[in-house]
Amino acid sequence: MLVTGLMASVMFFVWRAQKTYPGTQFWVLSNVAGTAAFLLVSLRGIGPEFLTVVAGNTLGVATTALALEGNRRFLGLKTRSAIPRGLIAIYFLTQIYHTYISPDFASRIIAASLIVSLLSFLSYQAFSEKPGLMENVVYRTVGRSFLLFAILMFVRMIGVLAFSGVYSPEWIQSVSFMVFLIFAVVWGFNYMVLNSERMHEELREKESELRELATTDFLTGLGNKRTFEEFANAELKRSRRYNIPTSLILIDLDHFKKINDTFGHAVGDKVLAQIGSLLKRMTRQHDHVARLGGEEFGLLVTHTDLNAAHLVAEAFRREIQQLDIRHGDGRIAVTSSFGVGVLAEGDTLESLMERADSNLYKAKRLGRNRVVSEPGTNLRLLPRSSRKKTK
Ligand code: GH3
Ligand code: MG
Ligand code: MG
Repeated sequence: MLVTGLMASVMFFVWRAQKTYPGTQFWVLSNVAGTAAFLLVSLRGIGPEFLTVVAGNTLGVATTALALEGNRRFLGLKTRSAIPRGLIAIYFLTQIYHTYISPDFASRIIAASLIVSLLSFLSYQAFSEKPGLMENVVYRTVGRSFLLFAILMFVRMIGVLAFSGVYSPEWIQSVSFMVFLIFAVVWGFNYMVLNSERMHEELREKESELRELATTDFLTGLGNKRTFEEFANAELKRSRRYNIPTSLILIDLDHFKKINDTFGHAVGDKVLAQIGSLLKRMTRQHDHVARLGGEEFGLLVTHTDLNAAHLVAEAFRREIQQLDIRHGDGRIAVTSSFGVGVLAEGDTLESLMERADSNLYKAKRLGRNRVVSEPGTNLRLLPRSSRKKTK
């Protein structure tokens, strides 16, 4: 009684003070019913028989029914309350019968064991009903604790059936109470572990949502400036280490303000989204494309020297120009300007960006819709070996 009472208090505290999920109130009720059952049963011989025997035992059996209800609700399964309610009603009637009409201690225990075993098995079954759930060690352990209890109660029933004619099965009762005591503690902890597991699941979900929000550009689905810088910095390090030529291509859409002014900002957004997916489609697996801001995009191409990067940029330029952006009956024509830079010795991402940006500026000045990839002056290009060969 003390143990279930304590467990009920702790569960109640968790329920009121912490974030909990559907079903928790039934777990609390289950512990309260258990406490009341032990209290009533311990008053046997002192209090009225109906309370100490019939009500006490029925409450004891109800603990597993309430646990089942709580488990199903917690797991988000359809509740089938008619089954536990029916079983409790049947049990109640057998108690009345074997207390008043044909008093029989063994029969009462047999009925209780059978029904408790069944209800506990249904709890186990609830955990295995949800596909994949038993792969999680927490759910598996809790589910199996119900299975173990169901087996123990079934064995108890067999034990009473086998011994009841011979002698008083008092030791079976002692063992049973030991089992109740152990399981009162086990389930108390189970519920709290389930609760924290669910909280962790939520946390993990939120975490990946947040990561998604922090790393992708909402409009185009591309990476954002931050992921681009992360990727580029790592890639530049690698390129320097292994002497691999790596180039940066900056893309800025031409006269985009005009598109907004002519068709409206919403259409401008759609254009950006379409160009975003074109860029994504065209980018090779080991390269990285991102929206760096407004109508500007960055493309890091690995294993690509300046000449090759110029050709890549040229291909992108043509595709953007030819992109079929539908608006009403017509098509919105979009062109873009490109500035290309290749990684040189002593470059940081910043200095490489600056060089590509100054080429982009030149492309704009020269009339837009073009690629500029001037190498810059006094730069020692990577890789050194091939640079020497060309000298
Ligand atoms: P150019 O680059 O050829 O010099 O001309 P531009 O008109 O593209 O020049 P600028 O970079 O000054 O203007 C960029 C415009 O892009 C301004 C802004 O209204 C528009 N823009 C930036 N971000 C968004 C966006 O998220 N949605 C829409 N619809 N427009 C945007
Ligand atoms: Mg622009
Ligand atoms: Mg711009």
